[in-house]
Amino acid sequence: MKLRKMGISPHAQCLLCGNGQATHEHLFRRCEYSRKILDGLTDRLHLRRFNPNNGILHWICGRKWTPMKKGINLSIFMAGYYHIWWQRNQVRVEGCFKRPEVLLREIGQCTFLRVKQILPHSLTRRDEVWFQTIDLLY
Ligand SMILES: [Zn+2]
Repeated sequence: MKLRKMGISPHAQCLLCGNGQATHEHLFRRCEYSRKILDGLTDRLHLRRFNPNNGILHWICGRKWTPMKKGINLSIFMAGYYHIWWQRNQVRVEGCFKRPEVLLREIGQCTFLRVKQILPHSLTRRDEVWFQTIDLLY
C-alpha cells in the first residue's frame, strides 16, 4: 500500500531484466541480471555456484572455511546484493542503467579495496594464500 502511494506498482516488470515482476523474490533469487552479478562474484572468488533459493548466508556458513574467509566472502556477497538493489533504484529514479559487467567491476573494485583496508595485519598462511587468489579487480 505504501509503495502504491509512492507510485511504485508491486506488479511492475523488473527494471533490470524485464523478465519478471519487480518483487524482492524476483530481484534477489530469480532475476537474470542479478544472477549475472552473483555468478560473476562467485567466479572471481573461485567458488562453486550456489542456489540463491537456499540463501547465501546458509551456503557460506556451511563451508569449511576459516572465519576470515567466511567473513570476507559474506561481505562481498552482501555488497553485491546491496549494489543490485541500488542499481534497481538507480534505474527507477535516475533512469541510469549499467550493464551487469560494469556493475560487477564496480562491486569488485570497491569491495576489494575495502576488504584490504580492514584486513588484519597478521593473516594465517592459509588465509593469505586464499586472499591472493581472488580476482575482484578486473
Ligand atoms: Zn529481473
